[in-house]
Amino acid sequence: MTTDATTTAATTDPRRRVPRTDTVLADPAVAAAVQRLGRELVKRAVQVAQQRVRKGDLPPDDVVAAVLAGLPGTASSLSPVLNATGVLVHTNLGRAPLSGAAVAAVVAASGTTDVELDLGTGRRGPRGEGALSALLTAVPAAEAALVVNNCAAALALVATAFGGELVIARGELVEIGDGFRIPDLLVSTGARLREVGTTNRVSLTDYTDALGPGTGAVLKVHPSNFVVRGFTRSADVAELAPALAGTGVPLVVDVGSGLLRPHPLLPDEPDLQTTLADGADLVLCSGDKLLGGPQAGIVLGSAALVQRLRRHPLYRALRVDKTTLAALEATVRGPVPPVRQMLDADPAGLQARATAVAAALQARGIEAVAVASTARVGGGGAPEFELPSSAVALDPRFAEPLRHGDPPVVGHLDGDRTLLDLRSLLPADDERLITAVTEVARRWS
Ligand SMILES: *Cc1c(COP(=O)(O)O)cnc(C)c1O
Repeated sequence: MTTDATTTAATTDPRRRVPRTDTVLADPAVAAAVQRLGRELVKRAVQVAQQRVRKGDLPPDDVVAAVLAGLPGTASSLSPVLNATGVLVHTNLGRAPLSGAAVAAVVAASGTTDVELDLGTGRRGPRGEGALSALLTAVPAAEAALVVNNCAAALALVATAFGGELVIARGELVEIGDGFRIPDLLVSTGARLREVGTTNRVSLTDYTDALGPGTGAVLKVHPSNFVVRGFTRSADVAELAPALAGTGVPLVVDVGSGLLRPHPLLPDEPDLQTTLADGADLVLCSGDKLLGGPQAGIVLGSAALVQRLRRHPLYRALRVDKTTLAALEATVRGPVPPVRQMLDADPAGLQARATAVAAALQARGIEAVAVASTARVGGGGAPEFELPSSAVALDPRFAEPLRHGDPPVVGHLDGDRTLLDLRSLLPADDERLITAVTEVARRWS
C-alpha cells in the first residue's frame, strides 16, 4: 500500500519526473545544437531547464523546447546590440559595424585561405596583398602600406623602430580614453619624448630647434577628442614637412580616425590622402573609426620607412590575421560601409524613419514620439561636431529593460525620456528596434 502510494506520487508529481541529461541531449534538435554550440553550453541550458522542472515551473514534457529557447545564438557570449545612442563610432559597442561585404569576406577567409601563398606559383606570397593594394588604390599619395593590430600598435611600432628621441608638441600629448595615454605608450617602448612648445602653442622653430643626432622622428598626433581654442598656434604638416626635408628625420602623423579623403561634413578631421600629399612621410590611423572597418592600425607612406617597420622584429607581434585583412580589403574596396552611410544620412530621411517607428509603436499602444536630436561621430573623432538627427522618445523606464532585451537596444537617457536615435542605426534595423520596444512593453502589460 505504502509502496504503491509512493510510486503513484513519483509518477504524478512532475517534479519527480525530471528528464535525464542524456535523454535530453539525445533529442535530435538538441543534438544538432551540440554540433553548433558545443556540449558545455547546451548542457548548461539542460541543467537550467531541469532545475525549473524540479521547482515545478516547467512541465517535464517541455524541457526540450525550453532548452532550445534558452540557447544563445552563437558559441560566443558577445551579442549583437542595436546602437540607438546616436554615437556612430561607439567604443563600448565595438566601434564600426562591418558592412555586409566585409562580413561575407570574413566568413570566406575564416577557413583555410591563400593569405600568404601565391596560388599561381605555389610559393609563399606577400601577406594580405589584397588589403594593402586596396589601401594604396584608395590613397594614391602612399607608396606602401602596412596593417597592424590597431593604431596604438602602429604607434608602438613606430616608436620602437624609429625610437631614440621622438619630437612631439605638448599640446598633442593626448589621452584617448579609458586611461590610454599616447605619451605613456610611446615611452613604454623605450623611446624618449622631446616635448616642444606649450599646451596651446607650438611653432615651426620649436620643432627644428629640437632636432639633434638622437632624433628618431617628429610625431604629430591629431587631438581627436578635444579642441583647444583661443590663443593657439600649431605647426601643420604642410609647414613642417619642408622644414624637415633633407634632415633625414621622418615626419609621422597619427590622424586617428582614418578618413581616406576629406569629408565635406568634417573639415577639421585630417585625412590620409591630404596628410601624405602635404608631405608627411608616414600616416597612421585606426581601421574601425571613420574608415568603417575592422579593428586595425593602418600605416601608409614612404616605401623605405614602411619596409623598416615591416622588417622590425616587433612587427611580427603586431600583425593582423586573415579575417582582419579580409574585412579591411572589403571595407576599402566594397560598398560604402555603415559608419559612412550613417554619417551621410540625410536629416529628412532620419526624420521620416523616426516618424514611422513612432507611428508603429503608437499603433501597438506604446507612447512614443519622433523628436529632433543630436548625434555625434564618437570614437574620439570630431569632438565638437553635432550631426542633426531624429530619435524616438519613450518613457525613461524603457532604458534598462531595452538593454536586457533581445536584441539588446542601447539608447540614451535625456532628462525625463529615453531617446532612441536613428542615425546610429541602419534603416534595415528599424523593424528590429520596433520589435524590441514592443517586447518590453508587452512584458509590462
Ligand atoms: C583612437 C586613436 C588612437 C588609438 O587607436 P586604436 O586603433 O584604438 O589603437 C590613437 N591615436 C588617435 C589620434 C586616436 O584618435
